Amino acid sequence: MDHFIYRNGQLYAEDVAIDDLAAEVGTPAYVYSRATFEGHFDRLSTAFRGVNPLVCFSIKSCANLTLLRLLLKRGAGMDVVSGGELYRAMVAGCDPKKVVYAGVGKTDAEIEQSLQAGIGWFNIESEQEFENVAAIARRMRKRARAALRVNPDVADARTHYKTSTGQKESKFGVDYERAIRFFETYGRDEWVELPAIHLHLGSPTYSPEPYGRAIHKALQLIKELRERGFTIKTLDIGGGYAADYESGVTPSFEDYAQAIVPLLRDFVESGGGIIMEPGRSISANSAILVTRVLYVKEGGTKTFAIVDTGMHHLIRPTLYEAFQFMWPSRVPEHLVPKQRAKGMDLSDLLTYEIVGPICESSDYLAKARAIPRVQRGDLLCIFGSGAYGMVMASQYNSMPRPPEVLVDGSSFRVIRERETYEDLVRGETL
Ligand SMILES: *Cc1c(COP(=O)(O)O)cnc(C)c1O
Repeated sequence: MDHFIYRNGQLYAEDVAIDDLAAEVGTPAYVYSRATFEGHFDRLSTAFRGVNPLVCFSIKSCANLTLLRLLLKRGAGMDVVSGGELYRAMVAGCDPKKVVYAGVGKTDAEIEQSLQAGIGWFNIESEQEFENVAAIARRMRKRARAALRVNPDVADARTHYKTSTGQKESKFGVDYERAIRFFETYGRDEWVELPAIHLHLGSPTYSPEPYGRAIHKALQLIKELRERGFTIKTLDIGGGYAADYESGVTPSFEDYAQAIVPLLRDFVESGGGIIMEPGRSISANSAILVTRVLYVKEGGTKTFAIVDTGMHHLIRPTLYEAFQFMWPSRVPEHLVPKQRAKGMDLSDLLTYEIVGPICESSDYLAKARAIPRVQRGDLLCIFGSGAYGMVMASQYNSMPRPPEVLVDGSSFRVIRERETYEDLVRGETL
């Protein structure tokens, strides 16, 4: 569900016509809908209210300060994976106690920064990391709290191998079998308390079912740990809830909640707390990337639409072979899309290779994609670009990164400026 809708053949973000916005801010541009972003957070919170979770938004999916602030005002915490993301969370005004920090490679400097800030939880990914956090905490005389990231060894066959994290052979967390030993060794540390278990399956997980299996295993583990005298007060069930990249294939927040909430009820009623770490399910459909068609050309049997954005601004198609729905901003009434799918059941479409300006053959946004005919100068809108879009954008080929624009009803404002050539060389010497 989002607020990017066609009216009379013109795409709108809430009440702003995309063509008007592009005329003012130029292209390419990431365009966010505030109502969508906040609406997703609210719907998730409502769906899961039975277990009253602390919802820690995954900054790595979408990191703009203005957007983070919107969620903080609604009571969110933040899920960070680096010192830089922790810095963003602090600048945005996050209560450090609502920060969870995952990541297999936390440096000493990042650990010191986190202890200084007084974050809520270190999500610990290895034995050595725990020992290092404990040693630094002891040296700084700062008490800390940690959760053990347990690798639940469940996988959703549909999660791309590049984003799957929940199997035994992944670099994330420690194996379920090693968890008990981990607590026996580290569970009574003087400086770092270990009262929590963390799970994250990988992204996106297109079914509630793997969550069910992973949570079942985690609850079993918590029971065993309690029998051995360890107090487990918090279960962080991670993120990875799918976004609506394509109509009709993504479970709703309510679907996920229906499968997950009943499993957690006993744990919560006995005083346990739940943390969630959603990213894309909140941010992905909250933005489109608006690009302009520069040229259309024939090549062999193919027709190329060359646009003014590409893998440098949105790398998901190149990196994950991800599907991103894209459609012109203005179409005749009979070509207004009623769904977002790989194959659209419409006549009058032409098949394009939709590619960017970067000097790499891997710079494409869509291969053999049937869309309405486009011409030089037309705007093309890439839906589902709010997650892992701008945060992964680079300056490759020395192209400035696009601005981020936030639409709110009938008005909009730039929440991150378009980069300039001066930005490209900042910090360099001659
Ligand atoms: C990436 C990540 C998330 C968020 O994943 P989404 O698919 O964006 O929901 C949550 N937790 C951890 C530990 C992550 O690495």
